Formats: sequence, C-alpha cells, structure tokens
Amino acid sequence: MGNPCMRMTKKEMVKPLLENEGEICHYDLQKITVGILGTGDFARSLATRLVCSGYGIIVGSRYPKRNGNLFPRAIEVTSQREAIERANIIFVAVHREHYSSLSELRDGLMGKIMVDVSNKLEVNEHEESNAEHLASRFPGSRVVKGFNVISAWTLQTGARDGNKQVMICSDSQEAKCMVIEIARNMGFIPVDMGLLSSAREIENLPLRLFPTWKMPVILAAVLFVVFYVYAIIRKVIHPYVVKGQNPFYKIPIDVVNATLPCVSFVMLSLVYLPGVLAAIFQLRNGTKYKRFPRWLDQWLQQRKQLGLLSFLCAALHAVYSLCLPMRRSARYWLLNEASALARGEKKNPWVEEEVWRMEIYLFFGILAIGVLSFLAVTSLPSVANSLNWREFNFIQSRLGFTALVISTLHVLTFGWRKAFDSAQYKFYLPPTFTIALIVPSIVLLAKVYLFLPCVNRKLIRIRQGWESSHHMKFCEPHRARDFSDFNAESVSMV
Ligand code: NAP
Repeated sequence: MGNPCMRMTKKEMVKPLLENEGEICHYDLQKITVGILGTGDFARSLATRLVCSGYGIIVGSRYPKRNGNLFPRAIEVTSQREAIERANIIFVAVHREHYSSLSELRDGLMGKIMVDVSNKLEVNEHEESNAEHLASRFPGSRVVKGFNVISAWTLQTGARDGNKQVMICSDSQEAKCMVIEIARNMGFIPVDMGLLSSAREIENLPLRLFPTWKMPVILAAVLFVVFYVYAIIRKVIHPYVVKGQNPFYKIPIDVVNATLPCVSFVMLSLVYLPGVLAAIFQLRNGTKYKRFPRWLDQWLQQRKQLGLLSFLCAALHAVYSLCLPMRRSARYWLLNEASALARGEKKNPWVEEEVWRMEIYLFFGILAIGVLSFLAVTSLPSVANSLNWREFNFIQSRLGFTALVISTLHVLTFGWRKAFDSAQYKFYLPPTFTIALIVPSIVLLAKVYLFLPCVNRKLIRIRQGWESSHHMKFCEPHRARDFSDFNAESVSMV
C-alpha cells in the first residue's frame, strides 16, 4: 500500500485541489493594471499602497499636468479617458455628487470593473446607496462596493492602525472576487458582504458612532446624577443646614467617591437582570421558541457594555479611595485627632469591631475589582476569540455572577449596622448604600429562585427544546414570525 502521497506525481501535487481554484480568486498581479479616477487624498493614498503591493497603477485626472506632481514618480497620471482605457479595474475615488461628470466616459467603462469607495455624510442620506447609484449610471460596468471603511490615513500607514476589515459586495461574483484578492494583497481582511444591495449597510458603517454604547452610557450618566445628588444632600446639604458646617469641599472627591461604587454596583446587577428576566419569560411561556420583547433583546445585547462601564466606575472608585488620605482635609483631620489624643481629650480610638469591619470590607473590595478586571480583559475580542464557548460562558456568566456576590458583600460590610442606625437617616433619607442594594438584591433573590431544583430542572428542559404545550398550534402568518425570528444567541447567553 504505502503512503498515498508517495504515489502522487510532482505534476499532480502542484495541481489545485479544486478544478477551477486558480480561476476563482488568484490573479496574476502583473497582468492587472489598476486605474484610479481622482487625485484627492484617498486616490493618492490608494495609489501608493497599490504600487507597494505590486500593482501597475494609472491615475485619471481632469487636470493631469497640474495634479501629476502630487503622486510618486512610479505612478502615471494621465487623462481620465486614457486611464480607463488602459485599466482593467477602476477605483472611482470621486465624491458621489460628481459621478454625473464621469458620464462621458460611459462607453470606455463598458464591461470594466468600477470600485465605488465613496462614503455618505449622513446615515441613509439617499434612497439608494452610492454604489447602486453608480451602477444605475453605468449599466454596462460591473460595480463593486469596497474600501470605504478604510481611511486615507490607514492606507498610508499600512494596515497596522485601526480595523483591517474591508467589506466588499457586488452583483458580479467575478468582479467581487478580483477586488477581494486586491484587498488581501494590500494586507487587509476582505469580508464578502454579498450582493450590491448590501452597499447601503456598508456605507452606513463609517458613520456609526458607538451605537451599542448609547443606552449603557445614558444609563450610567443618569445613575451617576441620581446618586451624586443624593450623596450631596446627605453629605453636604444636611451638615450645612442642621449643624452649620461648611462641607462643600467634599463635592469633588468625597461625594464622587460615594457615587461611583453605587453606579458600578447597580450597573453590574443590570448585566445579570436581563438574563433573569429572560429565564422568567421562558418559564412563563413554557418554551424557548418565543421571541423576547424587543427591549429585552436589546438589553441582552448590551450586557458587555454595561459590564465594562461598571468596571470603569469600580476602577475609578479604587483610585479615588487610594487618593483620599492625600487630601489636605484628611491630613488636618488626622492631625486634630492625634493632638486631641495627645492632650488626653480623646480615648484610644482603636475599636476592634471597626478594625475587623474595615479589613473585611477592603478584602471584598480588592477581590471584586480583581474579578471585574479579569472579566473586562476576557471581553476583549482578541482574548475572547482564544476561548471556546464553554470557557467564555463560564467566565462571563459564573465568574461575573461571583463578582456581583463579592460586590454585595463589599457593600454590606461597608454598611454593617448603619442601616439600623437612626442617625444615618439624614432628612429621613436612608444611607446611599441601601438604595444601591435594591436592584442587586432583586437579582440575587431571583437567581436563588431560579437555582431551586424544581425551577432549574424545568428551565434546563426548556432550553434543551422542551415545550409545555406539545400540540402544534395553528398560527396566523404574521405570528409565525415570532417563532422563526428566534434569537438563539439571546437565550444561550442568559
Ligand atoms: P477629494 O480630496 O475631494 O478628491 C476628490 C477628487 O475627485 C478630486 O481630487 C478630483 O480629482 C476628482 N474629481 C473628479 N471629478 C470631479 C468633479 N466634477 N468635481 C470635483 N472633483 C472631481 O476627496 P477624497 O477625500 O480623496 O475622497 C474621494 C472619495 O473617496 C470620496 O467618495 C470619499 O467618500 C471616499 N473616501 C475617502 C476617504 C478619505 O479618508 N479621504 C475614506 C474613505 C472613502 P481631479 O481634479 O484630478 O479630477
């Protein structure tokens, strides 16, 4: 028998595995002359990068003599007509508004590949995408959308900075394949986005400004303002009104440091609350094949952002806490205490219970920030990609929940007996930490309920596909959507 490879002839070994592999995506660079229409920022960067990647370049300009000096000598700048006649693929590095000025080149562009790199100024600015608009103006050409997500700067610096992905789409498979190959040779990661109709989505990509962060940031800001005002009333206004003191110096550090842990704590519980709600929905519906309400779906998708904002607040709280003794007010207070002790006006301030409380309180605080840091690091795409689903789920779900329990213990040891001390109820307002405990307590109690063996068993069965009603129900076509649109990720991430 022997090794089958040994029986292969050298000729057979160099033959591609797929019959048409060579035809599909590998083109001889030397045979391809790439044309670029336009001599602006993008055209210059693109031309330089294509030359570095081994392509022959010809640039077409309305004013070749004037604009030729803007390019390196290796790049030929000529008239628009000559450029399109000599090139196989033409990058249209011209703004959409000026596509009409290219109309007289229509016959020369017949059958050629036109790459639309243009961007819009606003999301969904026009009814049709720029690429579709170009295709309608040049029906005889094969239009490909791509490279609009790459800035002129990234083209200049190489694919080292920013995102390396280039989304590409076209109605012509062959044309798309050629542009994909060019993107790959330039050091980018081409992503096939299908037909030209996807151009609308691709053109919206560079205009997005952290869409998934909007709600979490607003929520964090609202929580911050609420807790900050609450802390000011208790820590500043109350002593000023009742005791005639002047504690306004506490506003920048002390009050902020009382606010940050509350925001962090509530945000962390909001990471786990939607999972609890999803479980309750599934238990109530007796199936996992029914869609969650839209708000819950969106909330589930934004848990990572909520968690990272919680970590940010916790990290700032740690830094603020470390800086507390550095304040001049803290030093004066310490000096006064020491001198009062020396004069015998005060007794030894060592209170065993307080010492232990502080030790345990700090212990839980350090542990919580450690676990939260670990969670934040594992949510980075490069780290998350190196984990399998079970590892990722274990860290984000189990360890994340552990962080919530540790944080709760940290808050409880901070509060100790304060919740039962009437002196702590300034203007009849309960201490800030008791307010911060409300949502996390609900989450923890709900989790305990879901862990009850009878409830947990049912939930596991539901998530494995069991349905409380085994009979097929007739449903109207519009309701059938509820079942077909089921978002598996939302459930599996609970
Ligand atoms: P630009 O600096 O304003 O250059 C546009 C070029 O279009 C001009 O240099 C001009 O070259 C040419 N052009 C052809 N016909 C024209 C006409 N009728 N009126 C005015 N100019 C005409 O723009 P750019 O920044 O290079 O952007 C070019 C395209 O790339 C745009 O669609 C843009 O959305 C897209 N893009 C740019 C970037 C970027 O970082 N800049 C990133 C992604 C995508 P001639 O005078 O030599 O003909």
